[in-house]
Amino acid sequence: MMKSIGEYNFSGKKVLVRVDFNVPVDKDFNITDSTRIEAVIPTLNKILRDGGSVILMSHLGRPKGSVDPSFSFTNIFSQIENILEKKMLFVRDAVGNAAVDQSSRLKPGEILLLENLRFYKGEEEGNVDFARKLASLGDSYVNDAFGTAHRAHASTSVIARFFPNSKFFGFLMEKELKAIDKVLLSGEKPVTAVLGGSKVSTKITIIKNILSKVDNLIIGGGMAFTFVKAKGGNVGDSVVENDKLDLALSVLNNAKSTGVKVFLPLDVIAADSFDNKANTEEVAVDKIPLGWQGLDVGMRSRQLFDKVIMDSKTILWNGPVGVFEMSAFSKGTFALGESIARATENGAYSLVGGGDSVAFVKQNGFENKVSYVSTGGGAMLESLEGIELPGVSAIIR
Ligand code: AMP
Repeated sequence: MMKSIGEYNFSGKKVLVRVDFNVPVDKDFNITDSTRIEAVIPTLNKILRDGGSVILMSHLGRPKGSVDPSFSFTNIFSQIENILEKKMLFVRDAVGNAAVDQSSRLKPGEILLLENLRFYKGEEEGNVDFARKLASLGDSYVNDAFGTAHRAHASTSVIARFFPNSKFFGFLMEKELKAIDKVLLSGEKPVTAVLGGSKVSTKITIIKNILSKVDNLIIGGGMAFTFVKAKGGNVGDSVVENDKLDLALSVLNNAKSTGVKVFLPLDVIAADSFDNKANTEEVAVDKIPLGWQGLDVGMRSRQLFDKVIMDSKTILWNGPVGVFEMSAFSKGTFALGESIARATENGAYSLVGGGDSVAFVKQNGFENKVSYVSTGGGAMLESLEGIELPGVSAIIR
């Protein structure tokens, strides 16, 4: 059961909100991508409008359980205030007397930010006493930190046990979970997953989990070559995991017996070295000469993928279909983004999730042309693998 903050009135409550303010910063502590901060504004507004107060908890970077000034929230405090368009209070010791004192004096409408929770060993250890101390600061708990939901840490999971009747998902968490459900459980058919990236080994759990949930599976990127070689093709010097050939064959057989259509690239842009300036040639995917490696999908593949995507009503995209970091081999991934954008315009639902494809979508202006871009890399990948996230089970159990 979803426990949404939308169904609750926080008037007079002090609400502990776990957010993911683990934002990237440059060497001068300028926030370079504020998406994760912006994403929790609806949740904060709801609580404050109800007449509640907010105690924000987050981690920043990897200080590994001890105080490290370079990971202090003081470095980005005023930037966070500007992004939220709200003033905040701050407490340096997240679980000391000052935190108890400041939170007890917190008035409706006020926001108190606790210092980086990863300054304390108890956070990542999921220590119950640390969680209890945090819990004592508020009277409700809201988890809106999707980016950390795959961690069983004190503030993301353990703390929830102290709020058996007042623990909730924030709006961002709810949106992320609904997006995954929409694709994997209740997506309008045909449902198509596009998986790319370098290796079969890192994506195999996802493949196994989604095979029973999709109608079409498009496989691109480096991992396609393990499948092509398993079917007997010559992939030249392309990346191949030779110890995964049997696994690749069994995936293909499995898909066949359950009626899932698998689409591999038909052709590739082959290069004579792993270099943006390499000599290139467009060749059939199963006839790549020795000394050459496939670094992007070719024209016929792009057209095939486009047709499958345009015929789909629900689309999941994870991973680039070429070495998109080099301009010479980014065109296939770009074409894929365009296909998904067009399908979305035609009414399909599209979710982009997990690491590189999210970065690609943002860098190339596709962010507003797809239905939803996930804010959580690892959490999204584990969700696609079919794992129930500790941050989620702590709320619903
Ligand atoms: P992943 O982190 O598994 O999603 O993989 C992303 C990486 O896969 C990116 O850095 C791409 O450059 C890489 N990649 C995509 N296609 C290929 C390819 N054909 N050969 C080698 N690497 C690739």
